[in-house]
Amino acid sequence: MVVITTKKPVEEVLNVLKDNNAKKLFLVSCGVCSALCQTGGEKGLEEWKEILEKEGYEIVNGMVVDDVCDNREMAKVVRKNDADVQEADSIVTLSCGLGVQSIIQVLSKKYPEKRVFVTNNTEFMGMTERIGRFYMRCRGCGDCLLNETGGICPITTCAKSLMNGPCGGMVNGKCEVGNYEKDCGWVLIYNRLKEIGRLDLFSKLRDPVDWSESGHQREVVWR
Ligand code: SF4
Ligand code: SF4
Repeated sequence: MVVITTKKPVEEVLNVLKDNNAKKLFLVSCGVCSALCQTGGEKGLEEWKEILEKEGYEIVNGMVVDDVCDNREMAKVVRKNDADVQEADSIVTLSCGLGVQSIIQVLSKKYPEKRVFVTNNTEFMGMTERIGRFYMRCRGCGDCLLNETGGICPITTCAKSLMNGPCGGMVNGKCEVGNYEKDCGWVLIYNRLKEIGRLDLFSKLRDPVDWSESGHQREVVWR
């Protein structure tokens, strides 16, 4: 699984930095998901260093970090580079939104005044077909239905996240949403259930999605 990110327009990031009066920057570039999406990694780091230096920013330090979203990794980075973190007025992260919040949490005790900015937009958690082709196949609903739907997710594959078969907008196996360019998720589910000899599951009545389960402030905490 990869957290899929895309690059924010450079101007947008530069405007935010200017608006926050940032001058000395510590760059953190995600070496895992964002590296794969070409929005981080070594290449992204070099690109952003060049852009920012040209704009007159001082780069106090810049590094690729695996798992920016893992507080333990970021805590190690901050410990090892304490003087540079102290000198920088802001951290710029080439990562997903998890990375930003991970850094803020790690810095919160010793450096609560440091600002953290992000160069990427976070799109979705994605399945990778190959570099440059990523697909949303799960929205982390918290109540996985794949065992009943032939392993195809109705929440992400059906444009309306319907739970009980295709709507009236399906024409020749295609979905009305997006002008009939994409396959109807429920037709895919039907075909797959047929393929594995479980069409009996197709007519099973399912309750509407309980979105309260996938709402805000979710957490998994082992007790
Ligand atoms: S039903 Fe779909 S969105 Fe929910 S957990 Fe399973 S794959 Fe993810
Ligand atoms: S046509 Fe199919 S995929 Fe599109 S909204 Fe209706 S059921 Fe969902």
